[in-house]
Amino acid sequence: MIRLKNEQQLTGIRESCRMLSAMYGELIPLVKPGVETMELDRWVRNWIKKAGGKPAFLGYGSRTNPFPGALCISIDSEVIHGIPSRRKIVSGNLVSLDCGIDLGGFISDQAVSVEAGKAGDEVHRLNMVTRECLRRGIAAVKAGDRLLQVSRAVESYALANGFGVVHEFCGHGVGFSLHEDPQVPNYPHGPNPRMTEGLVIAIEPMINLGTGDVEVLEDGWTVVTADGKCSAHWEHTVAVFRDHAEVLTGELLPGD
Ligand code: MG
Ligand code: MG
Repeated sequence: MIRLKNEQQLTGIRESCRMLSAMYGELIPLVKPGVETMELDRWVRNWIKKAGGKPAFLGYGSRTNPFPGALCISIDSEVIHGIPSRRKIVSGNLVSLDCGIDLGGFISDQAVSVEAGKAGDEVHRLNMVTRECLRRGIAAVKAGDRLLQVSRAVESYALANGFGVVHEFCGHGVGFSLHEDPQVPNYPHGPNPRMTEGLVIAIEPMINLGTGDVEVLEDGWTVVTADGKCSAHWEHTVAVFRDHAEVLTGELLPGD
C-alpha cells in the first residue's frame, strides 16, 4: 500500500533529506586513496549523531544478519550494500556510497558514486551516464502520469550507452520507513501506479559496465556484478507535488 505524505510530513522528510545532503557535502571530499572504508562509516555515524539524527541503515534487515554500518560502501564490482571494512580505497576505485537518516521518524535516502583519485575513462563514463540516468528519471516524475515512465527513462539512457541495468534491486517509496511501496524499478516491470501529490520515492539507477546480472556474497549483503565488471549507483529522494517534483535530497547532484 502506498502511503502518501501530507504537508507537515513532507516538511519532516525534507528536513531529514537536507541533513543527509549536507552530510554528503562533507563526506565526499574524504573519499580518497588510502582511506579505510570503516573510517568513513565511523565519520558518518559521528556526523549524524552530532546533527541530531539516527543512521537509518544501521541494524536494518533481519534480526540474524542486521546491516552493521551506517553507510553502504560498494567499490567497483560491488553494486550496493557493501559493508564497511578495513579495506583501503585505492586510486581508480569507483566508490558508491549509500546512506539514510532517521530524523524524528522521517527517513531520507541518497546515494552517490565517487571516483577516487584518477578513474579510467570507461569507469568515468559509466559514472556520468548513471548520474544522467538519475537526472532523466527525476525529469520523468509528474503527477498524473504512470510511475514506470521513470523506469523507462532510466533504462533507455543506460541501454543507449551500452551498459547493463540491474533488475534485481530497485528504488522504492520512502519517508516513513526505509523501504515502502511502490517499487521503482530501473526497467519497466511490475505494478504501474499513477504518481500523485504526496508520493515520495527514492529513484536509484544501478548501472553496470557489463551485464546487469548480479549476485549476493556470502555475507548476505554485498551485491556484486556477475561478470566482475564495475557498477555505479546514484540516488535521490523525490517528492511529487501537483505541478512539480522536488528533489528533497538537494537541488543539485554532487559534482554539478
Ligand atoms: Mg539508498
Ligand atoms: Mg534506496
